[in-house]
Amino acid sequence: MKNIRLSALHENERTVVRIGHVKVGDGFCIIAGPCSVENEKQTIETAEAVRDGGADMLRGGAFKPRTSPYAFQGLGLQGLKILKKAREATGLPVVTEVIDTRDVPWVAEYADVLQIGARNMQNFSLLKEVGKTQKPILLKRGMNSTIEEWLNCAEYILDGGNPDVILCERGIRTFETYTRNTLDISAVPALKELTHLPVMIDPSHASGRVSLIPPLSLAAVASGSDGIMVEVHVNPSEAICDKEQALTPAQFKAMVGKIRSLQQFMADSP
Ligand code: PEP
Ligand code: MN
Repeated sequence: MKNIRLSALHENERTVVRIGHVKVGDGFCIIAGPCSVENEKQTIETAEAVRDGGADMLRGGAFKPRTSPYAFQGLGLQGLKILKKAREATGLPVVTEVIDTRDVPWVAEYADVLQIGARNMQNFSLLKEVGKTQKPILLKRGMNSTIEEWLNCAEYILDGGNPDVILCERGIRTFETYTRNTLDISAVPALKELTHLPVMIDPSHASGRVSLIPPLSLAAVASGSDGIMVEVHVNPSEAICDKEQALTPAQFKAMVGKIRSLQQFMADSP
């Protein structure tokens, strides 16, 4: 692949991204939490629930890139402060999105992992800016982007001096309308032969449907993915954002049980 230099796989040496005690690229990492930080109670309760359900990290958006300018845009700085409290309450590292170059230095002060969303995958100024930070970057695939374009975006971050990039497949646009997007599960084994970077799956934005999230998460394990990022809400019917795809804590816990069993089965298989 053209110009894939720093992200290219060499001699099967794979990057493990370390976030405190969590390792992405060694075992199966589960990131869970609400689509957006709505208030302190919802965030802390969800954080405690996903920790108890077996999550390794907490997700939650304080800055939301919304299709409509009239939709909830996130709590901003107040949201970051709530995420900090949730980390203190649970010990879970926090993954949160940054959408503006001007915000990068101070979002990096609150986040353990900076997320670049699908809509910003090719925001080259933003990629250069996060490349200057010391924080791991979760780079989501643009909904209309090829694997080659996606890896070129990872190159921007690596070339900026930041070696810790995690790729996240979140579904691409196809003619299908039953699902929110179409999960490109083949991206996982394809990336495994192209790059040393860890690869995760986001079954929530890929499908947009609670019922499809557990089977897609198991498919992520079977495909060789390094983990999943999934949306969970203490009270999905009241979620401000993406309520149709929010798992309850009980659904999440049951799913994690199946994931861990499949992981064990695969580890035991010759
Ligand atoms: C998200 O994970 O919060 C999100 C907005 O997802 P995406 O960028 O994949 O649409
Ligand atoms: Mn969402």
